[in-house]
Amino acid sequence: MLSVKNLVAKYGHIEALNDVSIDLKEGQIISIIGANGAGKTTLLSSISAMKKPESGSVIFMGEDITGMKPNKIVKKGIAHVPEGRHIFAGMTVRENLLVGGYTSTKQEIKDTMEEMNELFPILKGRESQMGGTLSGGEQQMLAIARGMMAKPKLLLLDEPSLGLAPLIVEQVFQIIQNIRDQGVSIVFVEQNAKKALEICDKAYVIENGRISMSGTGAELLASEAVTAAYLGKV
Ligand code: ATP
Repeated sequence: MLSVKNLVAKYGHIEALNDVSIDLKEGQIISIIGANGAGKTTLLSSISAMKKPESGSVIFMGEDITGMKPNKIVKKGIAHVPEGRHIFAGMTVRENLLVGGYTSTKQEIKDTMEEMNELFPILKGRESQMGGTLSGGEQQMLAIARGMMAKPKLLLLDEPSLGLAPLIVEQVFQIIQNIRDQGVSIVFVEQNAKKALEICDKAYVIENGRISMSGTGAELLASEAVTAAYLGKV
């Protein structure tokens, strides 16, 4: 469904991605793990066209989408939920969700809003609450729900559990699996490597802009190198 081929991305002279290739089959959860500054965010941004790669290609559903405009990428079925949530503090929950559904018709928006209430029970009954007054976990749910309003086939999530209390982290990971169960494929970047590896179908480790390892979540959980670098001593 998604094939990233030999991607190279730079910021000035800094090479953020060097010959990165990843593959995702429909219905899979792929997790990307790596240290700070390894290039994880740049990889997601290159897929959603927020960052223009120097070379390499992004193939989605058989089509080369490299260099397409970000809004066209959304219409193709890719939604990107960036790190830090970026919800609109001065807008209500409903208004925030409407922003995510900007490519949809009125009827689609109505139906999708109802689906979001099912998928994100934490947001139920909060339609008119201001985004800025939600808790960190609720804001993260809203950010993911806003991404889902575009009815994506592929959801890109950057650090969805960052800064959240353990109980909310559990809920976010459950939501990610529920979204996958609805047929939406997911690529997500996580600092919480253990949890990420437990729920993903396949994972890639990025080090200094290069993929250093890949495998099923179980394979990487069993790897001594991954344990030492990302999981701490157990
Ligand atoms: P983190 O987990 O800290 O968010 P990351 O793995 O997502 O890190 P990136 O944000 O993709 O890493 O950064 C990869 C490299 O590119 C880093 O060296 C970073 O400093 C650099 N970089 C990222 N964004 C920019 C930018 N806008 N301008 C210049 N350099 C950048």
